[in-house]
Amino acid sequence: MRLLVVSNRLPIVTVEEEGRLTFQESAGGLVSGISAYLDSLRGSAFAKPEYRWIGWPGITIEDPAQQALTAEGLSALNAHPVFLSERSMDQFYHGFCNKTIWPLFHYFSSYAVYEENLYAHYQCVNRIFCEAVTRIMQPDDLIWIHDYHLMLLPKLLREARPSAQIGFFLHIPFPDFEMFRLLPMAWRSEILQGILGADLVGFHTYDYAQYFLRCVLRILGHEHRMGRILLPNHLVKVDTFPMGIDFRKFSEAAADLQVRGTEDGAWEAIKGFKVVLSVDRLDYSKGILNRLQGYELFLESEPQWHGKVVLVLVVVPSRVGVDRYQAIKKEIDELVGKINGKFSTVAWTPVQYQYRYLPFHPLVSLYAASHVALITPLRDGMNLVAKEYLASRTDKTGVLVLSETTGASKELTEAVTINPNNTREIADALKTALEMPEGEQIRRNEAMQDRLRCYDVVRWAEDFLTQVPVVKAEQARLHARLLGRAARQQILDRFSRAEHRTIFLDYDGTLVAFANDPLAARPTEELLAVLRDLSRDPGNDVVLISGRDKDTMRRWFGDLDVALVAEHGAWIRPRNGSWQLAKPLNDSWKPAARPILQTYADRLPGAFIEEKQYSIVWHYRRADPELACARVKEMTDDLMNFTANMDVQILPGNKVVEVRCGGINKGAAAMAFIPKGRSDFILAVGDDLTDEDLFQALPATACSIRVGIENSHAQFNLRNHVEVLELLKSIILDHVPAAGEEGT
Ligand code: UDP
Repeated sequence: MRLLVVSNRLPIVTVEEEGRLTFQESAGGLVSGISAYLDSLRGSAFAKPEYRWIGWPGITIEDPAQQALTAEGLSALNAHPVFLSERSMDQFYHGFCNKTIWPLFHYFSSYAVYEENLYAHYQCVNRIFCEAVTRIMQPDDLIWIHDYHLMLLPKLLREARPSAQIGFFLHIPFPDFEMFRLLPMAWRSEILQGILGADLVGFHTYDYAQYFLRCVLRILGHEHRMGRILLPNHLVKVDTFPMGIDFRKFSEAAADLQVRGTEDGAWEAIKGFKVVLSVDRLDYSKGILNRLQGYELFLESEPQWHGKVVLVLVVVPSRVGVDRYQAIKKEIDELVGKINGKFSTVAWTPVQYQYRYLPFHPLVSLYAASHVALITPLRDGMNLVAKEYLASRTDKTGVLVLSETTGASKELTEAVTINPNNTREIADALKTALEMPEGEQIRRNEAMQDRLRCYDVVRWAEDFLTQVPVVKAEQARLHARLLGRAARQQILDRFSRAEHRTIFLDYDGTLVAFANDPLAARPTEELLAVLRDLSRDPGNDVVLISGRDKDTMRRWFGDLDVALVAEHGAWIRPRNGSWQLAKPLNDSWKPAARPILQTYADRLPGAFIEEKQYSIVWHYRRADPELACARVKEMTDDLMNFTANMDVQILPGNKVVEVRCGGINKGAAAMAFIPKGRSDFILAVGDDLTDEDLFQALPATACSIRVGIENSHAQFNLRNHVEVLELLKSIILDHVPAAGEEGT
């Protein structure tokens, strides 16, 4: 197995100096997590795992000769570059990624722009990545795609390599439905479908996973069971994997340094003060201004802390040159100036402000020197700084003040939690933190450190990567039921050897796709021709066995030489015969059931009832799926109570609930068509629960097929109605004489 990690950017810094390119690995959390995980595998059953990182090299190179040199240089570092033009990078990365997805997914909807042109570049870059990956991937590679830049890639890869092992992880929040739906309809569907091309989809928190599942239900209409979504061709698992940090690296570095200030004396100015730390990239989602306002209010309200506390504010330059970021930078500069202007004394500057990136060791020494970490993002997918701070507290003291709107807050429940929109809460939390007894600090931190030590970045990567083959195995179990080439040939052989054959075909979902309006799902000319051809052989008895009412069945299929079964077996019309009741039925239960069904239809926009002679069907395909789910439960409960003493059945179907007379089902109806000794080959095809009665009632020698990848009493599965038609056509090609050839 090789692991191919795909992310927007390679974790390598490419520098051009006097026309020469040099490459240097940059050790981000993701890189160290994955390499540590791979190291941990060496010597195990998965000996010698290899990995390649695929991504943009961080520099625009247009000259093919230079590109080749770059690729060569990077391959020594296990990296494979995806070259993008300046314009692509601008429209894709600075454009759609950072002007549409980033603000929207962080709930800054008013900052989001919706420009066709930017989305077109997003699609295009995802396709370029797909080409790059397919060019180097091998059949048993595991491909791990990262983050919001590449949400279309899983599906593109799936189309290119249907059996590939693909994982996708989103590092930022997945927003709730109301926010996500702000994306234009075509984009939001394509993005969800794009992600669902993966086998395993991971999020930092349970909430993000639930929001995603909800969007999939509401926008694409796919339900899930315990995070598993069964698509027509493919099973996808959605789960939560909170990303950890390299705990040991931080705690060991902190222990080694034993610092209060760095070697270069950069933190001399904070010696002797209680230090409140704030470290972030410059971004509006990080809530840096709110933090400063909270600190200002704290200083106003708690004068006893003047001269004793400093806020070390580290802001890492990010997205430099983007107007919105420059504007925040200006606001931060001004607010720092205002606070320092208002409170400073000769011996005390309350905010120590640094606008720069800190390398690992100075950062750890700052973590170790800080009594409080004040981390107040307005929205953050995870927030690793909070975890790193805790890992660096080797004596277990220190207080973490953390926004409830970070992913990390779901795990770090012993932190002092604040709502970043409330300046007063920030100010109060600061006081609580600075005055917290040491014993309590240690008690809280111990619990959080234990968790972080145990679920570190290696565990995170391991958890995710070991889940992908598990999903694959689950898919394989389901796919093993798919009608393969050999079994298909066997059916064709048995079919041609038999003298009489009975073919039971359900209609909706089996021979045609579902439509919002049941009457819109009419048979196509192609289907009618298949049924006509199939029934031309006098040895073939074709039985259309459906839940439809008999008038519709007659209108659509009345002219064909086939038998019809309507209302799931209540009505039977033999070949060349007329409609008859399967058994004496009564509809005296209808007046009791109808008002209940009608009331629930009235209460659910999009739901309606369809009345047949011996059943009533409550349709909800067009209704809000979540409300429908709740209503179905309530209604079924009500119906059961009201019809307890009546001979009726309540049956859930595909976006319908059907109430019908007892003792009627497709299995019982089918028996009328299999007189003993006549039929020597039986084929039954159906797609839902009502067809299970049929599959169960048939003799063991019958061949049964369920449409859709689901567990079933049927022997085989086919994916969809298109595959059913293909099978029927191959039967016709193989065995049925062409028109005019009968009896030859
Ligand atoms: N970081 C750093 N130097 C700095 C500031 C931050 O190396 O001066 C690192 C920090 O150690 C952390 C990452 O940048 O691993 C920030 O991750 P986080 O999840 O907190 O925020 P993001 O920037 O990814 O939104």
